[in-house]
Amino acid sequence: MADLSRRNFLRGAVAGAALIPLVSLDSRSARAAERVSPDDPTAQALGYVENAANADRKDKAGVPGDQQTCSNCSLYMGEGEYAPCTLFQGREVAGAGWCTAWVPKG
Ligand code: SF4
Repeated sequence: MADLSRRNFLRGAVAGAALIPLVSLDSRSARAAERVSPDDPTAQALGYVENAANADRKDKAGVPGDQQTCSNCSLYMGEGEYAPCTLFQGREVAGAGWCTAWVPKG
């Protein structure tokens, strides 16, 4: 009897351990798809806007302010209309957006 319940316990433990990587992968991809809202406190602190034309962009690293957008920032990790930003821990920002942490693609 004790042998049987120990076997059941071990089966449950193995099945539970096998699910852990799936759960963690799933939550990581859900976070990556999340978009940064301009109302987010971090976004506000960094002056993030979804339309760069609405920001007061100063020339930086030799790039005129009006040419700076998320899509040509080195922290923009994609090519599409929205892509993950390293600064926002992988949450998506608008390619047409901008924030004060803008850094030219090297
Ligand atoms: Fe956009 Fe770059 Fe700021 Fe991220 S760090 S929000 S990609 S300008």
